[in-house]
Amino acid sequence: MPGFIDSHIHIESSMLVPSEFAKLAVVHGTVATISDPHEIANVCGVEGINFMIENGKTVPFKFHFGAPSCVPATIFETAGAEVNVEDVTALLQSDDIFYLSEMMNFPVC
Ligand SMILES: [Zn+2]
Repeated sequence: MPGFIDSHIHIESSMLVPSEFAKLAVVHGTVATISDPHEIANVCGVEGINFMIENGKTVPFKFHFGAPSCVPATIFETAGAEVNVEDVTALLQSDDIFYLSEMMNFPVC
């Protein structure tokens, strides 16, 4: 029987690491996610993104992480990290990154 694919979820919003998220999601039929890791990136930058990827590899769940495109999303965010164009370019070269994640920037004129 095929499983569900959650097409838009930020794993960090569950307050769980990917491997623990997977254990709970799979019992409800979800076997894969499309996940923008921008929340951890807001705090930990590329190091946080890489943590999500590596932790997700420890379970037989299919995480499809994207390259966060808006970290920070506004000049008003003070979470501490930044993912710049060079970081996004490098992330998109990785076999572990599947797409450019959602656009959330708030334009400031
Ligand atoms: Zn989102």
